[in-house]
Amino acid sequence: MTCTEFLAMLDDLIDDAVTPQLRAELQEHLHGCDHCEVTLSTTRKTIQIYRSHELYDMPSGLRERLHAAIMARCKKGC
Ligand SMILES: [Zn+2]
Repeated sequence: MTCTEFLAMLDDLIDDAVTPQLRAELQEHLHGCDHCEVTLSTTRKTIQIYRSHELYDMPSGLRERLHAAIMARCKKGC
């Protein structure tokens, strides 16, 4: 699995919408990739902050902005 593939499935992983097999593949990638591990924990924290403020609906465009920032970083760092 590449970082791009991992990041494409990041939302599903956080939403727990992945199959057990895919989850195992994602975990395997995380073990070998610090960049994606940091990205996952950062994104999770961001979402938790929104949820803890009971803003269950993320502001429109937030996920897109997060994704764009992540992909931009990945192009430099991966
Ligand atoms: Zn990666």
